[in-house]
Amino acid sequence: MAKRTVGKRVKCIFVVGGVMSGVGKGVAASSIGKILQARGLTVTALKIDPYINVDAGTMNPTEHGEVFVLSDGYETDQDMGNYERFMGLRLDRGNYMTTGSVYKSVIDRERNLEYGGQCVQVVPHIPREVISRIRLAAKNADADVAIIEIGGTVGEYENILFLEAIRMMKFEHPEDVITVIVSYVPTPSKVGEMKTKPTQHAVRTLNGTGVQPDIIIARADRPLDEKRKEKVAIFCSVHKEDVISAPDIESIYDVPLNFEKDHLSDLIIRKLGLRAKTRKIGEWEALVSRAKSAKKPVKIAVVGKYFKTGDYVLSDVYISVLEAIKHASFAVGRRPEISWLDSAEYESSPAKVAELKGYDGVLIPGGFGSRGIEGKITAIRFCRENKIPYFGICYGMQLLVVEYARNVLGLKGANTAEIDPKSKHLVIDIMPEQKEKLIHKDYGGSMRLGGYAAVIEPKTIAATAYRASEIFERHRHRYEVNPEYVDRLREGGLVFSATSPDGVLMEIAELPKAKHPFFLGVQFHPEFQSSLADPHPLFLAFIQASSKRGA
Ligand code: GLN
Repeated sequence: MAKRTVGKRVKCIFVVGGVMSGVGKGVAASSIGKILQARGLTVTALKIDPYINVDAGTMNPTEHGEVFVLSDGYETDQDMGNYERFMGLRLDRGNYMTTGSVYKSVIDRERNLEYGGQCVQVVPHIPREVISRIRLAAKNADADVAIIEIGGTVGEYENILFLEAIRMMKFEHPEDVITVIVSYVPTPSKVGEMKTKPTQHAVRTLNGTGVQPDIIIARADRPLDEKRKEKVAIFCSVHKEDVISAPDIESIYDVPLNFEKDHLSDLIIRKLGLRAKTRKIGEWEALVSRAKSAKKPVKIAVVGKYFKTGDYVLSDVYISVLEAIKHASFAVGRRPEISWLDSAEYESSPAKVAELKGYDGVLIPGGFGSRGIEGKITAIRFCRENKIPYFGICYGMQLLVVEYARNVLGLKGANTAEIDPKSKHLVIDIMPEQKEKLIHKDYGGSMRLGGYAAVIEPKTIAATAYRASEIFERHRHRYEVNPEYVDRLREGGLVFSATSPDGVLMEIAELPKAKHPFFLGVQFHPEFQSSLADPHPLFLAFIQASSKRGA
């Protein structure tokens, strides 16, 4: 545990959402953290999700978006990824909670007689548990400021107890707590005027829980004019300077800089009575301007299946992959042009796979289940045979091995046990301890999860990219390359360039450079450790290879 200065009291910034979801509350919370760090403050961040699921791991990605895995193996919300990327933090399970996890620990404690015979109640025991978790996370991080984002939108039944936690904290220490509401201010096309009424209603609803916002971040497709700022201020009982205009901008990484145009860090520092330094944000500015100056495109196809929700495309499911592609592209001076392709289409019309020729690189991210799998294998084969850079992540690596076994080694019907447990050639199989878990229906939080070390084989693409002999990457899967097939795959030309330290688990598979410009798969999820300031080495290598093709 980190050392803590005696008497240091953490200041809390709660971030809540108004009007509707999806307006960038996570990016707002991350950006607030970034600008406070730039003022020399130590910051930590927590996310509270209002659902009953104990973690995010059991939800369908199209319901919930990406599951972001922390290095301690906790399966969390994609906002945790934003916090880590923006603030350069390494968060752990103490930084994430759901209604389910909070209730679970209160109930467990009650069963252990830890409430000493009290009647354990929704209020105050649930908000108190929330508050004690916030304080503990702040203490462990030795933070000056904790930013706590509450999922959902005010007015929902689900997050009311978390708003109650704000009210209780603020009542106890009014000088230590502020609330920021990230709201939406629409300009309906037929009306042609920016409307503040939904925000007024959201604030009134928040007031109904006993919480008054200190700052209103007004998301809109354009900047708020002075008149609208005044209107929001008067109707929502804040000062005009407490209304921050947050228009749509090209890149999320611009948001901290944009906030500072409205002097947001000064405002927060004043409201919380913090002692801060002068702003140092030059490094971030340089990264953002490097990103903006990248003009020449690199065309990347992401082939997956979780894109569609009704008539819409949902790239949020792969948000960390998307960001990691961006980080690497900016670092090599390219503008990423990303297309989302549905692998199921290569099953109904296999000739369509030829469209991949039009891309500089192809990436298949993680996934589960059988839908679209044969289409992915078709895509991988096409990339291998046509020397198109291919990067496979987790399932994308397992299917690379399946494809290689079938089409190069000639192992007919080779498959993963996830799809065809009766296959004669289970080149990807379930590990014995995982099998046990499935028999006992122990599904939640039971995959191979979180950070594991791997050792790298020298003189491989992986070794050149990492420039290291040992790596530490985050995992989330049940299946592995079957050790019984490793020798055959190796003899057939596939290089396993990283393995678990005991040599049993295959962590990276690749083809030598002489055979293919970039054909590499990883059993882990490198995307979780990439950031604008520090792009992931394998994404860099993939984008470099792709840029060469598109030169
Ligand atoms: N479905 C595969 C497994 O469980 C891959 C998981 C993933 O891609 N994250 O092993």
